Amino acid sequence: MHPVYLRQMNTTKYIFVTGGVSSSLGKGIIAASLAKLLQARDYRVTIQKLDPYINIDPGTLNPYEHGECYVTDDGAETDLDLGHYERFLNVKTSQANNVTTGRIYQSVIEKERRGEFLGKTVQVIPHITNEIKERVQLLGNTGDYDIIITEIGGTVGDIESLPYIEAVRQMKWEMGDDNVLVIHLTLVPFLKAAGELKTKPTQHSVKMLMESGIKADILVCRTEYHLSDDIRKKLALFCNVQQEAVIESIDASTIYDVPNLMLEEGLDTITLKKLNLSDATPPNLERWNKFLQRHKNPKSEIHIGLIGKYVELQDSYKSILESFIHAGAVNEVKVKITSIHSEYINAENISEKLKGLHGIVVAPGFGERGIEGKIEAVRYARENNLPYLGICLGMQMAVIEYARNVLHLKDANSTEMNPKTPYPVIDLMDEQKSITNKGGTMRLGAWKCDIKKDSIVGSVYNSETIEERHRHRYEYNDEYRNQLEEAGLKATGINPETGLVEIVEIPSHPWFVGVQYHPEYKSTVASPHPLFVAFVKAALDHSKNE
Ligand code: GLN
Repeated sequence: MHPVYLRQMNTTKYIFVTGGVSSSLGKGIIAASLAKLLQARDYRVTIQKLDPYINIDPGTLNPYEHGECYVTDDGAETDLDLGHYERFLNVKTSQANNVTTGRIYQSVIEKERRGEFLGKTVQVIPHITNEIKERVQLLGNTGDYDIIITEIGGTVGDIESLPYIEAVRQMKWEMGDDNVLVIHLTLVPFLKAAGELKTKPTQHSVKMLMESGIKADILVCRTEYHLSDDIRKKLALFCNVQQEAVIESIDASTIYDVPNLMLEEGLDTITLKKLNLSDATPPNLERWNKFLQRHKNPKSEIHIGLIGKYVELQDSYKSILESFIHAGAVNEVKVKITSIHSEYINAENISEKLKGLHGIVVAPGFGERGIEGKIEAVRYARENNLPYLGICLGMQMAVIEYARNVLHLKDANSTEMNPKTPYPVIDLMDEQKSITNKGGTMRLGAWKCDIKKDSIVGSVYNSETIEERHRHRYEYNDEYRNQLEEAGLKATGINPETGLVEIVEIPSHPWFVGVQYHPEYKSTVASPHPLFVAFVKAALDHSKNE
């Protein structure tokens, strides 16, 4: 496309966030914090993540690889950074907000097969880079946003990132520096032996970016110590940026402090200045700061056990952990999470493992490993009046536990774990039985659910119909519904279209709820999830009765 043509077409501004020196510097949090500040100044902002790996989406990745797979309303299985974007902005994301190299290539190859490039050799430049640019501009062209912030996964210099960096270079050339901005996030390490902060890794990483034809406009420097004026000057001079464009990003005690830290450093003002946008409206962070105030000044403390099998990696349960932060703030209580590996739980050690806890969550998961421990934990919570929240697999485990220990259906199970179980209380739906592909074939995204009035969830949700996000293949088996309900495990949430049971609870228990969906995907700072809020409240009550 001709540059002048693009400039006339497009009024949306594009910001790219790249990473240098090291991975795990928190590009997602910086992107989300900047977006928050711009949103607080009344700009319409969204964030996008470009992931350089070849999987079509992270849905087929083990959580140990990349942490949790986040799910959007439209059923996209996405990078966990999209969770941060929604939690910070309270704006929904969609499939368009997360694109992988696999998806880019898939779409280019499909076009090639359809004959769209007939006669041409299909190449990384221009075909792959054009596809990348289109995916970025797709969000801009909706007209819904003033600013698109696109985070490029990986680190500058990675072979996989090259086409993305080239696409950014082209967009900057086509649309100009006041329409396309590059923020480079780097590390300024402190060398103990030398007793100083070192700028060289940043200089090298900026140089590498320059070799690809991109001059960073703003440097965000992750550091454990404050950057002195001298260091800022040095970074500005050697990295070819203005001194006010050197932004310090000091380690914070909570990610929710980062927007304010970025505000103090002026990341939003320098961004607006470089994009020729007005900074006349001051950022309104009143609601955000109210949350922070409550989060940082809890009146009491509770202990919640998170029972799962990916507990070694905290990122595996990112959205659940964040939901507890939101719900804790509402209840003005510090929620301390104890991660418990389900593989090491058994009937003998269960009371020891759950000692001192005021509630437990059995986490989502796949496969057989660790499920007997989860079932033991459910039994303990049920028998000891310990508040219980079962999420997805955690709901299925609650059904299995009830079937085994209350209905005495020996070896009741999910057919996922034991295809030959005599009592398949959790089973595949007929339409799932013929599916063999693993990617993108689960029940995904937002589904409606009708809530029974006279129930825990009836009072939790202030609504008779809710919509929650799903990500699972197996379902509550309706053939056992009568038996389970008569024995006291009530079905209190039903999918109005399919009749599927989405929520179970025990009315005779102080607080026992299992949900087939994932409430954690919808909890945000501005709108904490009512189920987590109510569960924390129940655990708080439990702690007072001890
Ligand atoms: N493995 C279960 C299923 O596929 C639960 C999935 C989950 O917990 N997200 O139904």
